[in-house]
Amino acid sequence: MKTHKLRFECTGCGGCCTGRGNARLEYFVAVTPAERERIRAYLGISPAWFRRRYLMRYWDGQHSLRWKDDRCVFLDGDKRCRIYPVRPVQCRTYPFWPELVESKIAWRAEARRCEGINRGGIVPPARVRLTLKRQERAVRQSFLPDRSRSRKR
Ligand code: SF4
Repeated sequence: MKTHKLRFECTGCGGCCTGRGNARLEYFVAVTPAERERIRAYLGISPAWFRRRYLMRYWDGQHSLRWKDDRCVFLDGDKRCRIYPVRPVQCRTYPFWPELVESKIAWRAEARRCEGINRGGIVPPARVRLTLKRQERAVRQSFLPDRSRSRKR
C-alpha cells in the first residue's frame, strides 16, 4: 500500500487497545527495556511487582504489556490509558505499523475497529515512514532483557 494516501485522526476511542483476542497471535504491545523502566517508575512500583502484574515475556524473549480479558491491562473502564504519558512507542505509532500499512486489506479491517482511521487529513508520507522505522526499532528492542537484569550478568 502506498504511504501517501493514509488518513488518520485519533478520537481517543480506545479501539486500538481492545478487542483483539487474548493470544499473541492476535496482538501484543511490545515494550523496550527503557519503556518498561519508565512505566514502572511512573506507577511507582517495584520491578518484581511490575513484571508479575503488567508484563508478559514470551518464549522467544519478547516483552509485551499484559493483555487481559481482550484488552490491554492499562485501559481503564472509561477507555482511557492509565499510563498515557509513558505509553510505549507501539501505542504512539498506531496505526502506522508495517502489518497494517503494507496491506490494503489489513488497513480496511483495522478501520472497522478504529474510527480514527480514514478520518482527518492525509498524514505526510515522510511522517508515516519515520513512524514505521520507530515502530520496527521498538519491536526489535522489546526482545532485550531489562537493563537492571543485564547489568547483573
Ligand atoms: S498502554 Fe495505553 S495506549 Fe497502549 S495499548 Fe495499553 S491502554 Fe492502549
